[in-house]
Amino acid sequence: MTVYRVAIDRDRCMGDAICTALCSNWYMDRDGKASYRQETISDSEYESNHEAEISCPAGIIEVRKA
Ligand code: SF4
Repeated sequence: MTVYRVAIDRDRCMGDAICTALCSNWYMDRDGKASYRQETISDSEYESNHEAEISCPAGIIEVRKA
């Protein structure tokens, strides 16, 4: 099993919520910026998190092998 780690540069989040629409690991926090629920994800969660990564217009989500 491959383990991945997600990261976000929250300072640059535009709050458009695209990532939250694509992946349940992401939600809009009280400050209007996106946050992740789990930093470490498994194979089965990779695809939706990667979709959020490549769809974020600010390019601030990263999904990398842990
Ligand atoms: S898609 Fe990117 S810019 Fe939009 S809310 Fe998510 S992290 Fe922020």
